[in-house]
Amino acid sequence: MNILVSACLLGVNCRYNGEGKLQEDLLKLQEHHHLIPICPEQLGGLPTPRPASEIQNQRVMSKTGIDVTEQFEAGAFESLKLAKLYQCTYAILKERSPSCGYGTIYDGSFTDSLIDGNGITANLLAEHGITVIGESKLTEFIKLLRD
Ligand code: SF4
Repeated sequence: MNILVSACLLGVNCRYNGEGKLQEDLLKLQEHHHLIPICPEQLGGLPTPRPASEIQNQRVMSKTGIDVTEQFEAGAFESLKLAKLYQCTYAILKERSPSCGYGTIYDGSFTDSLIDGNGITANLLAEHGITVIGESKLTEFIKLLRD
């Protein structure tokens, strides 16, 4: 099966701070499935490193006050294109991110506060029928695929 994955979870240094966030369990998953890495923020044309961004009133704003909604939306559409190209029905995405977060995201105040909501890419993928899984649910998901 082809599974879309946030590239930072595979250890790619694509996060806003120029670092990755490797989830070792993904390497196990890779033994039996094809993982398709995406970084929507890079796909949307943003540089790495870049200022952190959060969603405020349905716009994505960088910590430095720049509206980056257009880049976030472009990255979401490129990610969807890859999901369709590789017929992915699942996406394992980085939690809380304004792009990849699903269910819970930062609240826009840049104070590490969380609210219910979805990142721009996670939301678009879910609207197209792709099941989004956060990294904290990875163990359960791997077990589900095995059973
Ligand atoms: Fe990771 Fe997604 Fe942020 Fe890219 S946009 S660094 S894949 S959380």
